[in-house]
Amino acid sequence: MNILALLDEKGIRYVQKTGDEIAIICPNQATHSDGVDSNASFNINLSKEVGHCFACGFSLSQVGMTTWLLGGKIDDVQMQSISLRSRLKRIKEQDATIYTKDGVGCFVMPPGEIYPEEYRGISPATFKMLEAIKCTAGRYENRICFSITQHGAFIGVDGRALGDDKPKYLRPSKCNAKEWLYPFDLAKARKVRRAILCEGIFHAVNYLDKMGEPEALCYFGSNNWSEHKTLLLLEMGLDHVVFWPDNDAAGIKAMDEICPTLRQWMDVYFIPPAILPEGPDLADFSKDEIEGFLNRKKRWK
Ligand SMILES: [Zn+2]
Repeated sequence: MNILALLDEKGIRYVQKTGDEIAIICPNQATHSDGVDSNASFNINLSKEVGHCFACGFSLSQVGMTTWLLGGKIDDVQMQSISLRSRLKRIKEQDATIYTKDGVGCFVMPPGEIYPEEYRGISPATFKMLEAIKCTAGRYENRICFSITQHGAFIGVDGRALGDDKPKYLRPSKCNAKEWLYPFDLAKARKVRRAILCEGIFHAVNYLDKMGEPEALCYFGSNNWSEHKTLLLLEMGLDHVVFWPDNDAAGIKAMDEICPTLRQWMDVYFIPPAILPEGPDLADFSKDEIEGFLNRKKRWK
């Protein structure tokens, strides 16, 4: 493969380094700070036909390099050939620092008390364990608020309306639910062996309440799915993942989108939507019901 000719064809300029090495602007520069690679950080070895970015850790294997140079979309290549270890390290650093930079601000929990009573069949002990707040004043008034912590950093608040207030979920504007799995730190601390992926925060909280283990992780709806969550799951070192869909059109669509992505990286099971009732969902089920559905999980091929 003549890499230099293909780069010329794409209009990509390069700088010659030593011997077989050239450097170009990182193809993954969108994830660099300010979205720009100002130093041509992506080094390519012309004889090995591989590349690596010294700024973001993005790598292309020989297959990835060929796909990209011949016009494949970088997003497809990225999942296949990303340098996983550097990415995992980077998201940990991101969780630890991004929310404390000037101009981004730190989050604080809104005023209130630990949610004191049973709500939707969930016991006060579970709300206490999660330190969920019943907010009594301000923007989050009449909401139950969960603090989102990952890698020990407080990265956001999820405020669920207790009445009919809109929006149903209120979050600080600077936080990014695309990076959240809840309750990630608790699940990691308990060293769970499997993750039950579910759409809503009350699904995860009810599972914890009924089953006693923080295995269910909320991904905050299919609009908030991202590669970041795949990496978080990989970091947990799980035996497998079980996808628990809502039995409606949106839930099935989410399952069909997310499961194939996960399957590239780990063992994936799912609860067949056809066995789930329409209406009640994981936020409503008893321990026996949850166990019954889990026993009927199927493998995603
Ligand atoms: Zn880069």
